[in-house]
Amino acid sequence: MEEIAAARKRTVADYMAAANAYYYATRDPLGAAGDFTTAPEISQMFGEMIGIWIADLWSRAGKPPFYYVELGPGRGTLAADALRVMARFGAKPLGVQLVETSPALRAAQLARVPGARHHDEVDSLPDDAPLIIVANEFFDALPIHQYVATEEGWRERMVERQGESLVPVAGEVSADDAIPAPLRASAPGTIVETAPVSAAIMQRCAFRLARQGGAMLAIDYGYSGPAAGDSLQAVKAHRFADPFADPGEVDLTAHVDFTPLAEVARAAGARPFGPVEQGEWLRAMGIDARLVSLSAAAPDRADELAGQRDRLTGANAMGRLFKALALTAPDWPAPAGFPPDRKD
Ligand code: SAH
Repeated sequence: MEEIAAARKRTVADYMAAANAYYYATRDPLGAAGDFTTAPEISQMFGEMIGIWIADLWSRAGKPPFYYVELGPGRGTLAADALRVMARFGAKPLGVQLVETSPALRAAQLARVPGARHHDEVDSLPDDAPLIIVANEFFDALPIHQYVATEEGWRERMVERQGESLVPVAGEVSADDAIPAPLRASAPGTIVETAPVSAAIMQRCAFRLARQGGAMLAIDYGYSGPAAGDSLQAVKAHRFADPFADPGEVDLTAHVDFTPLAEVARAAGARPFGPVEQGEWLRAMGIDARLVSLSAAAPDRADELAGQRDRLTGANAMGRLFKALALTAPDWPAPAGFPPDRKD
């Protein structure tokens, strides 16, 4: 990570993009031996509920040929769990298309989903059938810009080298126009984040759904903005770390603001639903019934399985902090587990 360590002054977004590109390219960060654990790595029930959601929607859409697409599929665990359940309902995709930049994780994904095709970007996905797109803890890894309120107005937050350390500093150019109107009058020191890279990817997915049919499910630790706050965080070996120390050796994430993602999707011709809380959505998809049947099949694992369900759905665990946002093509049915589209 010499390029980042030797850094010129650069935006938080540039810093986050460069650090995470190196971080993900050079390791499999998931699981107990890694830096962090995600919902599909906690329990097979997570991917299974996504598989049920897809099979139900696909069935009500008239069972068209489709591609299963995943953005940032990690180890491929979610895809393997979802595809296994989908197959039971006859929902067999024409192909599995994974958008993933990390060579280390591409290899892990192929081991779990043999025959999957990899893409660097959404733009190269096939365009001859509907896409059903899943993105779990993908958008939180994409770069965010940060802006800080100063006595002289808003400034973009930059990362600068001072001696041996990298430190966040206020930039020199006015950034008032980058701030959503409801937040503009915030007190000095307030931080506001924007995620134009995430919005651009969401827009491309929504254009595809509008053009070729399909749906999308995006799940992340996030909120419905506009809201102020510094959500940039670093995790190493399951502990919080300084986001400006050790670039490329820690996982950098930011909370996802679902409001602009839903807005950009609607403007691009898709229909957004939610966000709803992950716990609520998993219960609506039948996670409690799935727990009962898994526990009946393996009584000695009943406590462990119940613990996994609690981690995924509990109000003090992932259940409320994580949210699900769905998109559908305009002529596809409404997705299960979401309130109806307000614009209907
Ligand atoms: N969805 C998985 C992994 C989440 S970690 C899970 O739930 O377990 C984030 C994932 O996004 C990793 O697979 C990482 O390599 C990938 N990723 C990060 N930035 C990316 C980018 N710009 N383009 C494509 N994939 C990216």
